[in-house]
Amino acid sequence: MLKKGNPPDHRCSFCGRGEEDVMILVSGMDGQICEVCTDKAQEIIDQELRRAGVEPQRKDAQQAAGSKSSAYSGPLQVLPPRDIKKFLDQYVIGQEDAKKVLSVAVYNHYKRLQQLESGNTKLFEDVDIEKSNVLFVGQTGTGKTLMAKTIAKLLNVPFTIVDATVFTEAGYVGEDVESILSRLLQVCDYDEKAAERGIVYIDEIDKIARKQDNPSITRDVSGEGVQQGMLKMLEGSEVLVPPQGGRKHPEQKLVKINTHNILFICGGAFDGIEKIIARRVNTQVIGYGKKESDEIDKENLLQYISSQDIKTFGLIPELVGRLPVVAHLDPLDRDSLRRILTEPRNALIRQYEKLFAMENIELVLQPEAVDMLAEKAFDFKLGARGLRSLCEILLTDAMFEMPGDENSKVDKKEKRKLVIDAAYVQEKLEGARKAKLRAA
Ligand code: ADP
Repeated sequence: MLKKGNPPDHRCSFCGRGEEDVMILVSGMDGQICEVCTDKAQEIIDQELRRAGVEPQRKDAQQAAGSKSSAYSGPLQVLPPRDIKKFLDQYVIGQEDAKKVLSVAVYNHYKRLQQLESGNTKLFEDVDIEKSNVLFVGQTGTGKTLMAKTIAKLLNVPFTIVDATVFTEAGYVGEDVESILSRLLQVCDYDEKAAERGIVYIDEIDKIARKQDNPSITRDVSGEGVQQGMLKMLEGSEVLVPPQGGRKHPEQKLVKINTHNILFICGGAFDGIEKIIARRVNTQVIGYGKKESDEIDKENLLQYISSQDIKTFGLIPELVGRLPVVAHLDPLDRDSLRRILTEPRNALIRQYEKLFAMENIELVLQPEAVDMLAEKAFDFKLGARGLRSLCEILLTDAMFEMPGDENSKVDKKEKRKLVIDAAYVQEKLEGARKAKLRAA
């Protein structure tokens, strides 16, 4: 045992273990603490911080010592689904169903992993819990990527986003699916163990659907072939990965990555799937036993999505089978768009407030101005993505003119104020529209 100080009774004051049972005993004024209890205490602190919405930023001891392992190599902290959802609530507006489904899937996935890591495999020894990869279906800009990213932040696991459309079947021009894992490795500084429990978000999975009118004579190199290529990786297998990705470095030594514990979250807009859903639900509810509650909400058919619809859309059954958790994202209405502007921890308006504050300017958006922005973004039909470009149009002139003038020195006592009202929004957005028309 390594001993620090000179403890009077040589046992941990927290767990009571004697010095012969522990590696380190650190003594304080009136007692000692062992290395097991300091870890436990750190876990409790981290959990409480996360509950309060603060991401613990502890420097990993090994990292501080210059070791190769990454910032992701600490023990996994898994919160119960309810708390996972609370964390998501701070960043993602609405999408209640998707948040709930994702919280449960993530909890189960990492609980199983935690159990494996702790070596405590006695419980239901003969039952092997399969992993629950997730499929998000929802229009663009509704928060699919944001949810996956936020979960990775909560768990402090490596995270990467890849676009399914860049992949082609092995042997063709384009990237091989293995390069998905190269990116994950790069994110965590080649810490293989960390990568093996990371999260991968595969965007635009709908774009590699089998083309319905594709005759089998021509090969569908970017569709079904790619889906086939993904199967093993999604299911969990050992994949040889080129650490630097691509085929540009044929000399590189391949790294073996086991994908068994990597959580894959796939997302796509699945344009036109509503028709498939409508056809299915209509045939199901017509007939005997139709109840009042069977009324279909035609405005938001995505809420009825099932794996069957995804198959009809063109994902092969084997791939659909490996994405057992399917969640839908609701289209964003005006109210959600309005809330997205102001409520999340990293809300767009807060970001601009900060930018202006750095110039000693207080930015104030009046409620009617926020309403108007939400209204315009709704018309754009780009989900929350439209909000960003609208804010840029709105504030570019001010961001161009105000910094750098005499009053912008932060040490100036007098703070300036930029108040944006509905008329200002109208003027700027209208001006931008006219300028575009002139340019066209
Ligand atoms: P997609 O569904 O296309 O993956 P993203 O998650 O990338 O959309 O969303 C684009 C941006 O819009 C995000 O960075 C985020 O700022 C904002 N956003 C989208 N949906 C939401 C939401 N439900 N709550 C909060 N912000 C959102």
